[in-house]
Amino acid sequence: MNLSISALLASAALPESATAKLDAELLLAHALGKPRTFLLTWPEHQPEPEQAASFLALLARRQRGEPIAYLLGQRGFWNLDLSVSPATLIPRPETERLVELALELETGDSKRVLDLGTGTGAIALALASERRGWQVTGSDRVLEAVQLAEDNRKRLGITNARFVCSDWFGALQGSTYSLIVSNPPYIAQNDPHLSEGDVRFEPSTALVSGAAGLDDLTCIVAGAPAFLETGGWLLMEHGWQQAEFIRDLLAERGFGQVQSWLDLAGHERVSGGRWNG
Ligand code: GLN
Repeated sequence: MNLSISALLASAALPESATAKLDAELLLAHALGKPRTFLLTWPEHQPEPEQAASFLALLARRQRGEPIAYLLGQRGFWNLDLSVSPATLIPRPETERLVELALELETGDSKRVLDLGTGTGAIALALASERRGWQVTGSDRVLEAVQLAEDNRKRLGITNARFVCSDWFGALQGSTYSLIVSNPPYIAQNDPHLSEGDVRFEPSTALVSGAAGLDDLTCIVAGAPAFLETGGWLLMEHGWQQAEFIRDLLAERGFGQVQSWLDLAGHERVSGGRWNG
C-alpha cells in the first residue's frame, strides 16, 4: 500500500533537532519535485513508490548527518538559488554580511572586483547581481568549484561575472581590482568543531588553514596590495577570534582605514582595509 504524504512525514525518524521536521519536509518535497507548500496542501496525496523510495533514501543519508544543502543540491544565498556540491563549502548566512559590507564600501573607479576562493560563486554572483556595472572575477584553486560557479552564473543569467582557476593570486598576474573580497578557509587544524555537523561533509581544503586557521588569510593580506588599485579595498571573512590578528596584519602591510565588522551574532567576522598605494 502506498503511504500518504502525512504518513511518510510522520514516519521520518530524524534525530531530535530544531530543524528535523523542516528537513523531512524539504527532502520529501525534493523527492516529489514540488514546492514544500504542496505537502501542506495535499497531506493525503500518495506519492509514487519511486518517489517514496527516493525520499527514504535521502532521509537515511540525512540520518547519517549529510548536510541538507548537499542532499538537495541547492542552497539559497543572498537572493540567489545556488547549486552546491561536495566540491565546495556550503554558502553561509554570515557571508551575506560580507556581501552587504562590500556593497557599502566606496570602491575605486574601475569597478573590477575579485572574489578569491569563490566556491559556488556565492559572493561573486551576489555582488554582480546587485551591481550590474561591476565586472566581477571569482577564482578558485579547485576546478570543480570553478565549473560549479560558472554553471550557477549561467543558470542565473548573470553576465558581469566570470570564473577562473587560480591558487589565490597565482593565475591573476597583471590584473588590478578596486575591491578584493574573500571567505577563505580559516578554521584551525585541530578545531573540535570540524567533527560536528555539516562541516564533516565539506571539503577540508575549504575549511582548514594551518595550525591556527590563519595561513590563507595571511597569504591574502600579503599578496593583495599588488592587485589593488589606489583606494581599493580588501575585505575578508574570518573566525570570530581572529579579527585582532588580521587588523594587525593589515596595518603592518600598509593598509589604511583598517577595521572589523560584527556579524548578526555579535562576533567580529569581517575585517578589511584600504590600499592607498
Ligand atoms: N564559517 C565556517 C564555519 O565555521 C567556516 C567557513 C570558512 O572557513 N571560510 O563553519
